[in-house]
Amino acid sequence: MLHLLLHFVIPVLVALLFYRSRWRYATFVLIATMLVDLDHLLANPIYDPARCSIGFHPLHTLPAMLFYVLLFAVPLINRWRTGRPNLSPASRILHLIGLGLLIHMVLDGIDCMV
Ligand SMILES: [Zn+2]
Repeated sequence: MLHLLLHFVIPVLVALLFYRSRWRYATFVLIATMLVDLDHLLANPIYDPARCSIGFHPLHTLPAMLFYVLLFAVPLINRWRTGRPNLSPASRILHLIGLGLLIHMVLDGIDCMV
């Protein structure tokens, strides 16, 4: 139950800390990345409280996580490279999706350790 709560609390805190001027939008995108858990529908049983999601479900594997790192980092690298003060709307949402997915993986990973 605490695990599920963290999937909502951490995105709100991250949005307030790092995206204050657009914290509602950032919170919405970060929480929406919980849709990544739709890959649980491919498993049998769909939900197993004793199972570790990391490395088991296809969107919770290392290759997927490397893609999430790219989603998070490439918009920032492009902004730095071009010297623009802000991310474009398209880059902003890709960056936030990547961040939300990485937060999700970290929280799921913590759940695997306890
Ligand atoms: Zn998950």
